[in-house]
Amino acid sequence: MKFCRFVIRDASPSTSAAPLHGLIEDGGVIEISGVPWGAWTRGSRSLRLADVRFLAPVSPSKIVCIGRNYAAHAAELGNEVPKEPLMFLKPPSSIVGPQEPIVLTPYSQRVEHEGELAIVMGSTCSHLRDSDDALAHVLGYTCLNDVTARDLQKSDVQFTRAKGFDTFCAVGPHIETDLDPSNVLVETHVNGASRQSGSTSLMVYPPAFLIRWISRMMTLLPGDVIATGTPAGVGPLVAGDTVEVSVAGIGVLRNPVHAPQA
Ligand code: ZN
Repeated sequence: MKFCRFVIRDASPSTSAAPLHGLIEDGGVIEISGVPWGAWTRGSRSLRLADVRFLAPVSPSKIVCIGRNYAAHAAELGNEVPKEPLMFLKPPSSIVGPQEPIVLTPYSQRVEHEGELAIVMGSTCSHLRDSDDALAHVLGYTCLNDVTARDLQKSDVQFTRAKGFDTFCAVGPHIETDLDPSNVLVETHVNGASRQSGSTSLMVYPPAFLIRWISRMMTLLPGDVIATGTPAGVGPLVAGDTVEVSVAGIGVLRNPVHAPQA
């Protein structure tokens, strides 16, 4: 299944412009009630793709990110592969959806893309044991751009500012529930040119390991997002660029890059 979140385009006063959840099926969207990471039921209303505007498909309590989870990416920034997963958080306020602009900031002279596979949790889990089936707690997967102010990441002791600006977490275009995350290609293109390409099979710590490990520090809630790290090839974004993160079997997350707001 492909879960999406959307608003109806040009909603008339009688139609709600509030975000809705749906299933993408047969070239259209079937509205659902409830949320994909909780109880939901299939509605009767179906909409044409042309009549909806897609939003980020998630509204998590937290976005847990893993750094340096591909050896080639750790090496390109002069870092060692960490002895245990390097974890940080992005604030949910940094999320934008497909086609929404990533807005640069005057506080950074070097903003970079990080295309990643993201896990969307489907049920609560904490203190998972090695024998627990971590992937049973997953709702599905989506594409994520962990936009990073690289100069601030280097100058600050921790990553909060570099990773936490508004619009620095692009997510979408939808949640795919039918995906084996063990060997799918994660790619980033900027203005159509390939920048990053790597299989999830190259992850140092694969998804099931990450879920178990994170759950021992913080309870993962339904809808929470885990960004699993970026392959090699990170590089700059400038105003006017179009950046695309794609994961094979999911789709393409496309965002324009805008200059800082005056
Ligand atoms: Zn990242």
